[in-house]
Amino acid sequence: MRIIVCVKQVPDTNEVKIDPETGTMIRAGVPSILNPDDKNALEQALLLKDEAGAHVTVLTMGPPQAAETLKECLAMGADDAVLLSDRAFAGSDTWATSNALAAAVRKLGGFDLILTGRQAIDGDTAQVGPQLAERLDIAQITYAQSLEIDADTVRCQRLLEDGYEIVETKTPALITAIKELNRPRYMSIRGIYDAFGENANIKVWGVADLGIDASQVGLKASPTSVNRSFSPPPKPKGKKMLDGTVDEMAGALAAELKRLHVI
Ligand SMILES: Cc1cc2nc3c(=O)[nH]c(=O)nc-3n(C[C@H](O)[C@H](O)[C@H](O)COP(=O)(O)OP(=O)(O)OC[C@H]3O[C@@H](n4cnc5c(N)ncnc54)[C@H](O)[C@@H]3O)c2cc1C
Repeated sequence: MRIIVCVKQVPDTNEVKIDPETGTMIRAGVPSILNPDDKNALEQALLLKDEAGAHVTVLTMGPPQAAETLKECLAMGADDAVLLSDRAFAGSDTWATSNALAAAVRKLGGFDLILTGRQAIDGDTAQVGPQLAERLDIAQITYAQSLEIDADTVRCQRLLEDGYEIVETKTPALITAIKELNRPRYMSIRGIYDAFGENANIKVWGVADLGIDASQVGLKASPTSVNRSFSPPPKPKGKKMLDGTVDEMAGALAAELKRLHVI
């Protein structure tokens, strides 16, 4: 079985701070990590590899330092890694990102499964996985909290707000992972030694290697743009109404809500 896992290097915070002047994300002093959902996606690929044998390739698009994230994946047990890094990719929105990833998947050749995280904690759109499946014209199962493979059939429980549904499809397919899927393993000592050594198995591809035109990726190929980003002001302190009996407190609350034209 061939499995490709798409991973993203993200800032280690779920409270992205925005520079109010420039509207861009403040990255200084914020360490980078492997996106949490992507760790679950990789763990699932490694479990399948442990159970039935599989070749696991990790794929990311990012700046040169994203290689550190790929090394972490290799140290967890991935077989090889591809870094898409080229100035032409800069400023890609989800549309352009999925375009570059799809070209890389085609270049990698056949696969049975693509695993992605549900959502990256910085961009937060949850669009890249489904877009990639659409571009490759394969089935997708999103929000997977369990995954089983039986020959060429993949079956997942999809987490919903009020329960779950069981969805089954044929491979090749793309699955987006959520944290309920599994508990990611730690990097092994041997894995760290090999992955962070001089001969780490990481290929670096630019636009020319993907056989696509530079106009299909990057800022110019990105139909979405963020006009303004800001952190909402903190909520003001609530008002406590603790005087009197329960009826009196309820009356005071109703009067206050009327005054505010809520009721
Ligand atoms: C505040 C802010 C403003 C931004 N403004 C702009 C803008 O104005 N214009 C612009 O073009 N872009 C902008 N971006 C960047 C861009 O929109 C996204 O970061 C990028 O396209 C990926 O989308 P996402 O992070 O929402 O990923 P999601 O769709 O949430 O990710 C889902 C999954 O897809 C996979 N994945 C996502 N990205 C990658 C990747 N690079 N490599 C491999 N796998 C991946 C991972 O498995 C991930 O778990 C901005 C980002 C932020 C945080």
